[in-house]
Amino acid sequence: MSSVLIIAEHQNGKLKKSTLNAITFGREAAEKLQAELCLLVIGHDVSGVADELKSYGASKIVLADAPDLANYTAETWSYAAAEASKMRDAVIVGMSSGTTGKDMMPRVAVKLDAGMGSDVFAFDGEKFLRGMWAGNAVATVDIKTPIKVVTIQSTAFAAAEPVSGESSVEKIDISMPQTRTRFVEMRQTVSERPDPTEAGVVITGGRGVNGAENFKIIERLADIFGGAVGATRAAVDAGWVPNDLQIGQTGKMVAPDLYVAAGLSGSIQHQAGMKNSKVIVAINKDEEAPIFQIADFGIVADLFKVIPEMSDILEKEMS
Ligand SMILES: Cc1cc2nc3c(=O)[nH]c(=O)nc-3n(C[C@H](O)[C@H](O)[C@H](O)COP(=O)(O)OP(=O)(O)OC[C@H]3O[C@@H](n4cnc5c(N)ncnc54)[C@H](O)[C@@H]3O)c2cc1C
Repeated sequence: MSSVLIIAEHQNGKLKKSTLNAITFGREAAEKLQAELCLLVIGHDVSGVADELKSYGASKIVLADAPDLANYTAETWSYAAAEASKMRDAVIVGMSSGTTGKDMMPRVAVKLDAGMGSDVFAFDGEKFLRGMWAGNAVATVDIKTPIKVVTIQSTAFAAAEPVSGESSVEKIDISMPQTRTRFVEMRQTVSERPDPTEAGVVITGGRGVNGAENFKIIERLADIFGGAVGATRAAVDAGWVPNDLQIGQTGKMVAPDLYVAAGLSGSIQHQAGMKNSKVIVAINKDEEAPIFQIADFGIVADLFKVIPEMSDILEKEMS
């Protein structure tokens, strides 16, 4: 039986939330194609990740676990993904459109001689939809090859809920060819706060925050919720915060329960990364700012007055 193969994204032995959104895409696609849903975990000593996935209704969890795959490189992981796809007779191979998916899936497509759709947000059983021009246009993508490779816009799909029953885990052996790249080291930003893509609450600051030191008020509000800090490209380019906090077309895509946009105008490129958030609160002193057009709640005010007041009240309420 052919399959829809979804590749799990994980880091430091923990499954990334976006994988659950990709599984929802996978379930829908498998149903439409009368195919089975398989989930692929690549890495080393990652049987814990495979175990975490057992309750999501897949026909099989495929585990490519080998020392050569311990650290992500596009070359080794895309090879493993392509080999696993052939073994499972995959007709769609997908991964969430995060940093890893964007990096490796084009290589998977080349290895499988497959056509590819990026950032897809819908599939009708034949064609895919994807956003273009920062979400201002929708393209219908008709991939003609027997195997179709996609990156999945995870914010467009709800996180999959566990179902009854357990998937079996099949460990596969991948004999890795001689590679031309090797992993040297991983330099990670270490933060106590969650990543914006994983958090239920994201507090984002823009150019209006006006300096690295001032981001402390954004951080304080984020910490009250146990949430993440985000930033616009203007704030990142100014060097106030690291670029892994950038939200938007060329940053991260988020869809938290609560998104607070403070001191940012709401450019189309920024909106492309956050407009699917469940509740959007905008704080801006310019009532004409475009962010108010998509906000559920708008506060026309100086953020330096509103955010500390908000934080004081919330701290009292939540203690
Ligand atoms: C190809 C491309 C890709 C891009 N990708 C991204 C991306 O991924 N993410 C992204 O964010 N941008 C991206 N951009 C940049 C984008 O076009 C905007 O330049 C950027 O989003 C603007 O950031 P901002 O809203 O912080 O700044 P501004 O547009 O300058 O807005 C600042 C806002 O702060 C308000 N303000 C100022 N002071 C205060 C105060 N004290 N209290 C309350 N409000 C105040 C102002 O009224 C203003 O509305 C991209 C651009 C291009 C061309």
